[in-house]
Amino acid sequence: MLASESSKTRAGWIDVSVPLRSGMVHWPDNPPVRIERMLDIEHGDAANVSTISMGSHTGTHMDAPLHFVRGGKGLDEMPLEATIGRARVIEIHDPQSVKPDELRPHGIHSGERVLFKTQNSARRWHKEAFIEAFVYVSQEAARYLATQEVLTVGVDYLSVGGFLKDGVETHQALLEAGIWVIEGLDLAEVKPGEYELICLPLKVERGDGAPARAILRVI
Ligand SMILES: [Zn+2]
Repeated sequence: MLASESSKTRAGWIDVSVPLRSGMVHWPDNPPVRIERMLDIEHGDAANVSTISMGSHTGTHMDAPLHFVRGGKGLDEMPLEATIGRARVIEIHDPQSVKPDELRPHGIHSGERVLFKTQNSARRWHKEAFIEAFVYVSQEAARYLATQEVLTVGVDYLSVGGFLKDGVETHQALLEAGIWVIEGLDLAEVKPGEYELICLPLKVERGDGAPARAILRVI
């Protein structure tokens, strides 16, 4: 294993998840991340054991419909094919938000898994403080994606909706349509194109969200 930041394996898998660490960026009103060693070999304990405390929508994670839909499905009810299989990485040039006009030429179709690589990925955002003006999916684009009946949408910041705008509306449009949402991806090392995706969120009962590991491999 290389100790470099590049996490591409010999088999071609690219790790597009961000590392979790104490004090890392999170949504402003969400709980902080604390990872502390409670038992420590260095202190005479037989093993190293940590406690992990964080919000369910921090780092690379998934949203279940239950996040914004009363009585909606939890992550434990997610079909595995939502996040295992072919996925398309689409590069977004708009510096503000994903808009329907930029999506239409891509011919997004029913059942697709689409991941949006925006300017967020180049910022190594997981090492920075919270960015209010990150690139998000506009509510118009969210409704367009619902109309196209996509299966899964992935984004490269902590939320699919904006902080200043379209936070609630975008989530509702996607989650009410039963679309599974991956947030907090790092697509810096990924070019637009077709990939094989594996993204598995923790199986939290009635989970509104949960951390996930996400990897891509070029098809
Ligand atoms: Zn979300």
